[in-house]
Amino acid sequence: MTTAVLGAGISGLSAAYYLLRRFGKPLTIYEASPRVGGWIRTECHKDKGFYFEGGAHTIRPQGVAGANTLELVEQLKLEVKPIAKTHVAARNRLLYAKGKLCMLPNSIGGLLGVKEPFTQPLYKALLHDLRAAVTKVKDADESIYSFVERRFGKELADYAISPMICGICAGDAREISVRFLMEELFEKEQKYGGVLKGVLYARFKAKTDAQLGMGIFAEQQPQLYAKACAEKWAMYGLEGGLEQLPRALRSYLAEQRINVQLSSRAQSLSFDSAGANISLRNAEQPAGHVISSLPAHQLALLVRAQHPSLAAQLLAIPYVDVIVINLQYNSDKLLQLDGFGLLVPPVEQLPILGIIFDSCCFDMSGNTVLTVMMGGRWFANWFAHQPSQKELRDIAQRYVAKILNISEEPKFSRVHTLQKCIPQYTVGHKRRVESIRNYIANYKLPLSVCGAAFDGVGINDVILSARRQVDLLPPQSA
Ligand SMILES: Cc1cc2nc3c(=O)[nH]c(=O)nc-3n(C[C@H](O)[C@H](O)[C@H](O)COP(=O)(O)OP(=O)(O)OC[C@H]3O[C@@H](n4cnc5c(N)ncnc54)[C@H](O)[C@@H]3O)c2cc1C
Repeated sequence: MTTAVLGAGISGLSAAYYLLRRFGKPLTIYEASPRVGGWIRTECHKDKGFYFEGGAHTIRPQGVAGANTLELVEQLKLEVKPIAKTHVAARNRLLYAKGKLCMLPNSIGGLLGVKEPFTQPLYKALLHDLRAAVTKVKDADESIYSFVERRFGKELADYAISPMICGICAGDAREISVRFLMEELFEKEQKYGGVLKGVLYARFKAKTDAQLGMGIFAEQQPQLYAKACAEKWAMYGLEGGLEQLPRALRSYLAEQRINVQLSSRAQSLSFDSAGANISLRNAEQPAGHVISSLPAHQLALLVRAQHPSLAAQLLAIPYVDVIVINLQYNSDKLLQLDGFGLLVPPVEQLPILGIIFDSCCFDMSGNTVLTVMMGGRWFANWFAHQPSQKELRDIAQRYVAKILNISEEPKFSRVHTLQKCIPQYTVGHKRRVESIRNYIANYKLPLSVCGAAFDGVGINDVILSARRQVDLLPPQSA
């Protein structure tokens, strides 16, 4: 019987790719929208030499998850646009805080002096960690804000980690689990009595490839990963924008005659002794096994009739809405400071989360291209009155003028409101995911779950999540 994949975002397409590699056919993908790629969406303006990213902008090459994506990129023969660690976009990260633009320190020397918006040299935060007592944390989880505040002080929690969390998941560091980004540091602190102590101790215990997870590569690490390490890439994009990745996956699957059924929303999912049944608008599709890459709230809708308790657990994973506004100007002389972009710490209480300087990261043929992100965890505070696209663009332009001194009208712009686009790994997330997977295992449901709701929100994480779920299937799933 066929294996079905729900969703043709990057995790669903990757699941299909790994399923095909491991088991071959039969295999079908059901996707609700008329396109593949989910939150990866590029709008190309080839004639003018620029493009807009409506969702994800860059991919990081680090670690097993980074290596895994590079293997896929290599196998799909995509052209990579690397940004080396020495590139201005990798070195310069800005904050808009206390009414001005501040450059975050990017060298060891930067830890010594007082750098705005901080009122003390950053090395003092490290001393704080050495001195601070260790609190055994209840339920082995806490917010990343409280962890950083405990170990390094309130300034770092407000002006370093909080904006970083906005940049990664548009979330509130006071709610997001420390395990989302700092699991290892947290565990070291709990075990060795301090973050620095733990990190120093770990330096003497080099990890094996197996511990780093690199064992997933059968023979050797991917060549493109070796190149990324040798050339010290900080991040990369793709020629033609990130949507080339899901598009190339779709083309590859089409060449292998895998059926990607677009505009086919799954409406319910039930299970019986023979396997799974997927209800589409006008058909019932049986499947031997289902891999869902759907957002948790979508999967909850599908299973709630037969498995209300599973649906309730899935619904406990909250999501936020993000407004993405792309702006293009004809001149490339507008930005007074180069860098990846800027973030706005939530303590500033402004409607924008940050601005990405796309044309500093990648060549945009003489155009300045910016992306303003707004909303996230604070969407309801600022945008509950459902402002029009024009009002949203005006807000973005107002802050571009105020912060970057760019007051001219953009030549071209695009406003997207992405509803429920980023899951929030709030305190207890890891336990929730374990409990969801335990439920599926206990009831022996022919179902695997992958994608942004479960094992990390970055592109690398969701591709690796898909691969691991396929690897976990028993051989008889073929
Ligand atoms: C604004 C923004 C910026 C980001 N920036 C970055 C970045 O710079 N770098 C990075 O690494 N990551 C970034 N991310 C995260 C990354 O893009 C996403 O986590 C990733 O694309 C999610 O992929 P996915 O396949 O898990 O989910 P999705 O992209 O949500 O795909 C799920 C698919 O399922 C489909 N679907 C939904 N319901 C049904 C149904 N009932 N039946 C069938 N199909 C259904 C949807 O239409 C969709 O195509 C960003 C995300 C956002 C929103």
